[in-house]
Amino acid sequence: MTPAAYAVLNIDAAQHNLEQVRQYAPHAKIMAVIKANGYGHGLLRIAQALKSVDAFAVARVDEGIRLRKAGIKTPITVLEGFTCHEELDALLHYQLDAVVHTACQLAIFAQRPEHSQLSIWLKLDTGMNRLGFKPSEYKAVYEQLQQCPIIKQPINLMTHLANADVKADDTSLAQINTFTDTVNGLSLDTASKNEWSIANSAGILAWPSAITDWVRPGVMLYGISPFTESTGTQLNLKPIMSLHSRVIAVKQLSKGDKVGYAGTWICPNNTTLGVIAIGYGDGYPRYAKAGTPILVNGQRVPLIGRVSMDMITVDLSSQPKAKAGDPVTLWGENLAVEEIALCAETIPYTLVCGITQRVQIVERSALESA
Ligand SMILES: *Cc1c(COP(=O)(O)O)cnc(C)c1O
Repeated sequence: MTPAAYAVLNIDAAQHNLEQVRQYAPHAKIMAVIKANGYGHGLLRIAQALKSVDAFAVARVDEGIRLRKAGIKTPITVLEGFTCHEELDALLHYQLDAVVHTACQLAIFAQRPEHSQLSIWLKLDTGMNRLGFKPSEYKAVYEQLQQCPIIKQPINLMTHLANADVKADDTSLAQINTFTDTVNGLSLDTASKNEWSIANSAGILAWPSAITDWVRPGVMLYGISPFTESTGTQLNLKPIMSLHSRVIAVKQLSKGDKVGYAGTWICPNNTTLGVIAIGYGDGYPRYAKAGTPILVNGQRVPLIGRVSMDMITVDLSSQPKAKAGDPVTLWGENLAVEEIALCAETIPYTLVCGITQRVQIVERSALESA
């Protein structure tokens, strides 16, 4: 018995998407970003699928520990670094690399006698104003860290782009210039090269000058476009995730009947209504608007009425033969998650990250052999 709501993961697509990254950045090392449970696809599953990369990046220390405990030996960078001695102990114990971005971390280093234990990425804030030291303070911090016993030399240097997905906004170029100027003003390690990293997926795809020693692709590895104006498929990426459910009831409504909570949908005509077993309790977006496309028996039908916790309602008037049990796709192959994100006024990142525990994960290869 298959569960009503399930996500099929085409794991082979990860390798295809990684090859696309390599085509855009043939000389760069790849740090695959697998934070937030591998963007909802499963932390360990994605780490296994991408094991040929040069490094992984996660947001938090506990995500790095999970990877190490599962036997992953690849270098792992913790993008948010650490905030206390205990987290620093864990980074050292599990051999995780840290992003260093704020003064309190320097104070912690100053109290640590260990020698050459921690590999770091020193983060420059080039305008996002989230994590990182300001250009005016970067050189002094860099020099302080060069003298810090616990820090392994050379220090790697990074920044993050705030608006790389908007090709018409040259903020990215300004950020890249700020990074280059600031970093060139350091007395860089001559014995062994300091490595640089700037580009996320949008940087890799849209800003060639952001491609340096290391790239940090996230969303594109999952086959999803970082741009609102295109889909992953249009960028020759392959979506890993597709989300499915089934019709659980079909009924006839009359013109003027109201559908769902608050009766927000009033049937403009006699309508064949389909009820589908998926809702915000599964991660389907609560704010998907009327008209959001859904595939029933492979054909597009519009969402009508409010998304509830466990169910959504669709207009099946175009499918008079539809019945309970018919297959439904919410997003995936043939229905881009990017399009659903636009209909829900969100970004595809939130949709794939937001799949809940109730959704059963089925790996494609497992399906085929079943
Ligand atoms: C999440 C993240 C990335 C990956 O971003 P995508 O848009 O998913 O490619 C890269 N770098 C940093 C610092 C991040 O936080």
